[in-house]
Amino acid sequence: MKIAVIGGGAAGLTAAGSAKGCSVTVFDHMEKVGKKIYITGKGRCNFTNVCDNQTFLQNIVTNSPFLRSAVSRFTPYDAIDLLENNGCKTKVERGRRAFPLSDKASDVIKALSRYAESNGAVIRLNSKVKDIVRTDNGYTVCTTDGEEHFDRVILCTGGMSYSQTGSDGSAYTIIKRLGHTVVAPTPSLVALLTKENLSAAEGLTLKNVSLRTEKIKPIFGDLMITADGISGPIALTLSAYASREQFPYKAYIDFKPALSADELDARLLRDFGAQLNKQFKNALDLLLPKSIIPFIIEMSGVDGVLPVNSVTKKQRARIVELVKNFELNVIGNEGFNRAVVTCGGVDVKEVFPKTMESRILRGLYFAGETLDVDALTGGYNFHIALATGYVAGSSAAEGHNG
Ligand SMILES: Cc1cc2nc3c(=O)[nH]c(=O)nc-3n(C[C@H](O)[C@H](O)[C@H](O)COP(=O)(O)OP(=O)(O)OC[C@H]3O[C@@H](n4cnc5c(N)ncnc54)[C@H](O)[C@@H]3O)c2cc1C
Repeated sequence: MKIAVIGGGAAGLTAAGSAKGCSVTVFDHMEKVGKKIYITGKGRCNFTNVCDNQTFLQNIVTNSPFLRSAVSRFTPYDAIDLLENNGCKTKVERGRRAFPLSDKASDVIKALSRYAESNGAVIRLNSKVKDIVRTDNGYTVCTTDGEEHFDRVILCTGGMSYSQTGSDGSAYTIIKRLGHTVVAPTPSLVALLTKENLSAAEGLTLKNVSLRTEKIKPIFGDLMITADGISGPIALTLSAYASREQFPYKAYIDFKPALSADELDARLLRDFGAQLNKQFKNALDLLLPKSIIPFIIEMSGVDGVLPVNSVTKKQRARIVELVKNFELNVIGNEGFNRAVVTCGGVDVKEVFPKTMESRILRGLYFAGETLDVDALTGGYNFHIALATGYVAGSSAAEGHNG
């Protein structure tokens, strides 16, 4: 059986290696396979998260139930075995994040390429797939080099983030022509832009704060202030949960999530009591990072030069409110070229979760980020590409359906 795999990323290479006993051709329009893999995990490639199935599914933001079968069939331990068996030693770090022992993403690319090649897969580089046409007995894959017939096709063309790595969204048109619905792609795991100009605090990392919106419950962790908004772990997580939210929307920072409003007021009273002769603007140093204080002072409406013992209960309540609910108007994000992952893609209602085969066209399969699935940071997105690639490749080879 002849199988075409479109896209030589994590999903495509895994699918190519898993389609055992078939004649597999991988098409990629870039000059190398796995270009995105080089930049994953800051060049180290956090390729999976060694957690149990339930925890894994909880870290999937979009269409977690669809992935239940794939991630139980191809577990984090299978991901480790796949790499180790193909010459890439691995290690597990804090937060159960797995990396190549060498800290080199290129070793993951080598291992996945070896896996594909060990199955005899032929890799065609610089070969852009322009169309895929259904025929009586399979598919014609039309590339910049010509046309070729295949019995089955596995589409692993990724999303739209970091398009310079090859995932430029060009395949969405082909996917739609084949009769599939593409849920509108939006950037996810991306820094957020705010109307408020926080640039005076640019570079500040706030530890152990929380971030929420009206709809999204508080997310705890670290937050970074950028020149034009917010970034860092909890901003990225918020961007994932809010990726289909219309801009603008309001987000709220709680600078002291461990303290209730009453406890914070008591803390303020204590701090002010210990600094009786100071001006208000100089009396918040014990509570907040220096570069945040001017924002709180300005927004509180309290005169900064007021002696701290003159700050009234009402004014204190306003300060407490600002520290617990610092309002930001989120007006956008940094876009696909700075987004770790794409939310949106092939509608999973049109794909069998146990095989990754299309419910519309038999013999057509999907894997990886091209599907409307996305997860939080921590190795989950890469694992989704490996797991769905494995399921699609082995199912296409076995001729399963449904
Ligand atoms: C900066 C960054 C860091 C990341 N870090 C991590 C991390 O540490 N851990 C983690 O879990 N996830 C991480 N991710 C996400 C993760 O890398 C991806 O979700 C995953 O690699 C997607 O794999 P894929 O095979 O589905 O798609 P891709 O890797 O995007 O592969 C798609 C392939 O299809 C090819 N292609 C597209 N269209 C065509 C066409 N028409 N014809 C021919 N070829 C085509 C492309 O050239 C590309 O090679 C990161 C992403 C980015 C951008």
